Amino acid sequence: MYKVLAKDRCDYPSSLVPFPYKLVWEVKVPSFVKFFMWSLVWNRILTVDQLAAKGIIVPNSCVMCANTPEDTHHLFLSCPVSLQVWRALIGHINRFNHSLNHDSIKEVLLNWADLNNRGLAVMVWNLLPYAVCWTLWGARNDIIFEGASVNVCKMVLRVKGLLWDWVEMSSRGAEAKRMHSFGDLVTGWATLMVDSW
Ligand SMILES: [Zn+2]
Repeated sequence: MYKVLAKDRCDYPSSLVPFPYKLVWEVKVPSFVKFFMWSLVWNRILTVDQLAAKGIIVPNSCVMCANTPEDTHHLFLSCPVSLQVWRALIGHINRFNHSLNHDSIKEVLLNWADLNNRGLAVMVWNLLPYAVCWTLWGARNDIIFEGASVNVCKMVLRVKGLLWDWVEMSSRGAEAKRMHSFGDLVTGWATLMVDSW
């Protein structure tokens, strides 16, 4: 993902990574997503537990699964609904079965391994955790503020749509995209995103 990460695939203890600047600000995603991810890696997004810490008391139940108090880790890494979204995107690659087994999104990003592939697949893969987090946050807010319902298929499609758009933010990505169509992500995901060449 980054040169600094490529040097060592061992898990990075979060205490050794106090300032994950490159994980956010040098990634080719829209600025508003960078601000969101920056807040997320520092556990500063306004999940219900954070609101409570500020003295704003609202019922604390995850709106995705309606079964567990909402905090950052639950919403993005352990909610059964969120896990369905992750699994739909990475579940077909055995090597990544444990890629969510971390205490925080920051550690997930730090340990997000490269895909053994080339071209569009690699670029999409590197942006995937950002698109998933942004989509889960958007879906959560749509449920709370718009009365939307939980729809895993819609979230997965949303992730793929974001990836298709974002990958064009680098010239290499735009070039790689010319060889593909959005349908390659929608219906050919498991064929495109293979961990070998
Ligand atoms: Zn939940």
